[in-house]
Amino acid sequence: MGEFDLILRYFQRPARRSPLGVGDDCALLAPAPGQQLAVSSDMLVEGRHFLSTVAPERLGHKALAVNLSDLAACGARPLAFTLALSLPSADEAWLAGFSKGLFALAEAHDCELVGGDTTRGPLNICITVFGEVPAGQALLRTGARAGDDLWVSGTLGDARLALEVFRGTLALPADVFAAARDRMEKPDPRVALGQALRGIATSAVDLSDGLIGDLGHVLRASGVGTTIESAAALPLLAAGAKACGDEWALTCVLAGGDDYELAFTAPPALRAQVEAAGRQSDTRVTRIGRIDAEAGLRVVTADGSALHGRFAAFDHFD
Ligand code: ADP
Ligand code: MG
Repeated sequence: MGEFDLILRYFQRPARRSPLGVGDDCALLAPAPGQQLAVSSDMLVEGRHFLSTVAPERLGHKALAVNLSDLAACGARPLAFTLALSLPSADEAWLAGFSKGLFALAEAHDCELVGGDTTRGPLNICITVFGEVPAGQALLRTGARAGDDLWVSGTLGDARLALEVFRGTLALPADVFAAARDRMEKPDPRVALGQALRGIATSAVDLSDGLIGDLGHVLRASGVGTTIESAAALPLLAAGAKACGDEWALTCVLAGGDDYELAFTAPPALRAQVEAAGRQSDTRVTRIGRIDAEAGLRVVTADGSALHGRFAAFDHFD
């Protein structure tokens, strides 16, 4: 199968919303009047971002999910995406599974594949997503203010739990591992919540490298600090908190990585609106701390004592 047959068979679908999709030199997008384009790219490299054991269908899902998560963090509505693919061979079983998982999530979010590039090489998947957001309303990392509440969506730390089982450092009961593995391989980008938080949240970020690391970007960009209450944050580890012990639970929740939840800030006066946004998007939201004028990130336990310095963010070049 040649390059163009491969594209035609697995990636070319009729354009729906976009004026022009796959097949020409460029795709054409038409954001509605008054909207800004939100654009983000994420690359997935075998051995770095995913294990060779992952099913192709799940990899297709995850490659798009991590990109949609960035649109969610900006409060943008997905429109379209491009796919740049480097493949060791034209493995039809792999391509069928990968494109199935990819298009299932794309359709669920009404986000169409409009172009890309295909080449032979080590397995590498790069997606660029395009979304639209009303001009001036994107949720940014710069807007957190002292006195704001700190919130997170969903649960945290499950993907890290699964990773540690794969690494052999943790053992978990089979059902707990299965749930954690699902969260690692099939994250659910919080696209509806992000849009519902426009006009309510003062800042937002999606959690790909762990709460502490990603929150650090918001704190620096906004010139503020934060205090996280561990008593509020710890129960966010849905799968197997008891099975792995408190120390691991804290590490997974605070520095886990691969969560694809949103962390966001909002004024205390808007708590009811934040909760309504959570209900409207069918997404759990939990208040875990506050934003302080004093720089830095503090974690306090139920008895008020401080935990610090033990949780490092994930960094590809460390
Ligand atoms: P060009 O040579 O102009 O870069 P290509 O020959 O690489 O174009 O690709 C032909 C068409 O197929 C283009 O419209 C391109 O966007 C699309 N395409 C290539 N690879 C993919 C892919 N993996 N998924 C979707 N569209 C793709
Ligand atoms: Mg090309």
